[in-house]
Formats: sequence, C-alpha cells, structure tokens
Amino acid sequence: MKWAMIATWRMAVEGITEAGKDLSEGGFAGDAIEKAIKTVEDFPFYKSVGYGGLPNENCEVELDAAYMDGDTLSIGAVGGIRDFSNPISIARKLSYERFNCFLVGAGAESYAHKEGFERKNMLTDRAKLHYKKKYKETVEKGLSPYNGHDTVGMIAVDKNGKMVAGTSTSGLFMKRRGRVGDSPISGSGFYCDSEVGGASATGLGEDLMKGCISYEIVRLMKEGMHPQEACDKAVQELNDKLARKRGKAGDLSLVALNNKGEWGVATNIEGFSFSVVSETEEPTVYVCKKQENGKTSYEKASEEWLQAYLNRIHEPITFD
Ligand code: ASP
Repeated sequence: MKWAMIATWRMAVEGITEAGKDLSEGGFAGDAIEKAIKTVEDFPFYKSVGYGGLPNENCEVELDAAYMDGDTLSIGAVGGIRDFSNPISIARKLSYERFNCFLVGAGAESYAHKEGFERKNMLTDRAKLHYKKKYKETVEKGLSPYNGHDTVGMIAVDKNGKMVAGTSTSGLFMKRRGRVGDSPISGSGFYCDSEVGGASATGLGEDLMKGCISYEIVRLMKEGMHPQEACDKAVQELNDKLARKRGKAGDLSLVALNNKGEWGVATNIEGFSFSVVSETEEPTVYVCKKQENGKTSYEKASEEWLQAYLNRIHEPITFD
C-alpha cells in the first residue's frame, strides 16, 4: 500500500515531514496524525493553532480539535478547551470512548485533567499583542474583526491502508466566547473512511458547516471521483450556492486523500497553501490559485515564497 499525508497550510510541513518518516517505516496513521498536529500545536509562531493561537474577544485562547479513525469511524473531539497543550491528543483519547466522545469547555477540561493531560497557559505575549493591535484596528473603530484564520487539518493513509483524519485550531480570531467552528464537527471540518478516503477543511467555519463539505467530498470519492475532482466539485457547488442564497461565500479551502494515496485540493481564495508527503513525494509545500470555472490550480511554493512566509510569521508586531 502507498502511504501518504496531506495537510492544510504551509505550517503543517515540519509535522508531516517527521510523521512521514514514521509512515515510511510502517508507522500507524493515527500516530502520524497526532505527531504531526502536535508539532503544529507546540510551535508558538503559528498563530492559529495550539500554543500561540489567537484569542477570542475576551482575550482567552479557546481551542477546537478532532480525530477520526477511518477503520472504525470512531471520532473524538473537543470544543472551546482552554489551557491544555495538545488538544489533538485529548481528541484522540476521546475517540476510544463509546459515549461522551465530543466534549466542550469545562467538561473537556475536567476530562483532560482527570486523564492527566498537560496543562499550559496557551496565551503567549505575542498573541496578546496581535489581540491589542486587532482590537485597535477594528473593534475600537466599529469594524468587524473577523477575517481569515488557519486551521491545521490533515489526513494520512499508512502502509496497511488505514486512514485517519485530524484537525486543530484556535478558531476564528476574536470569536465570541463559546463559539465553535467546523473543525471539531464531523463531516464539516473533517471526515475519514478507510474504505474510501478522507477530507479536511479550513476557512470560515460558519460557511463550511452549511455544506458538510468534508463528508460531501468523501461521498463524491466513494462514487468514484478522484480527490481533485471531488474537491473541485464540492467547493464550487458550495461557493456558488452560498453566493446565490446569501450574496457571498466565506473562505472555503479543502484537502482530500483517497486510500490509494491520491490527493486533491480546492479553494475559493487566492494563496491557500498545503503540504504533502508520500512514498513517492518528498515533503512539499504547494500554493493554490483561486478556483476558476470549477478548477483549482496550484504550484510548488518558490524559495521566495517560503522565505517570505518565515519572515512574516516572525516579524515584530508594531502599532501605528
Ligand atoms: N475553520 C476554522 C473555524 O472556523 C478556522 C479556519 O480554518 O480558518 O473555526
């Protein structure tokens, strides 16, 4: 069997590089997903996932995460959890529960505490500065603070053909306390069935959920579509429907992988990046163009693009 991993955004590349080595040695898809997502959660300069993630409107970091086993269809998820370092590990642990496998807020925290997960203050000084800046630029001026944000979502297939999907995010920057997006919601932020494949989303949760878009992509793959075709069709249809019914569509970006290790992506925004590693492909970052006539195109990220990315995530936060 061909092993492979695909993940949303450039920020996943270090994680999938390490996890890909394990998969190449016969490692299990579930361990690969957890390891790769933990790497993103632990890195303080990724400001949309885990430690260093951006806070809600009360300046509190509330995190969402999910884990799905494509062999058993077991799902574990947490929503709005505070002060734990690795929400993905808590979600994975919950996936072994027959009942109560999706916990939110205080309930998720007391479960994590009882199970001995590491507590950590997830609000960094840098995230506080981002919050202050955003507050000055939007809320104080009566403007909406909501714009793009990035969830890490990934799918892996291992040498035994087992598939797992996982997500982790701090959600919409400046969200209301208690707001939960698509990322921990089965069928919206992720879905995975080892008999077919998996998909995961990033973008505006409120709109991604309107189409249960990850499930829709897996359903289309089950009907025989290649992941690329399935992603393009699902994104175009949801984008057009939202535009027709509501006047506009939020950001919708999806990645998908089937159980043969073939992958696809689609997006209605410019500049969506994603990361891939497989038996036949070194860890690679790609950058997409916005979908046109139902087709998404992408190319390998250039050295300039990769360097500009690193500069951007480390640059000092300044106030006018
Ligand atoms: N989908 C996430 C949410 O709405 C955020 C993102 O991926 O940009 O919480």
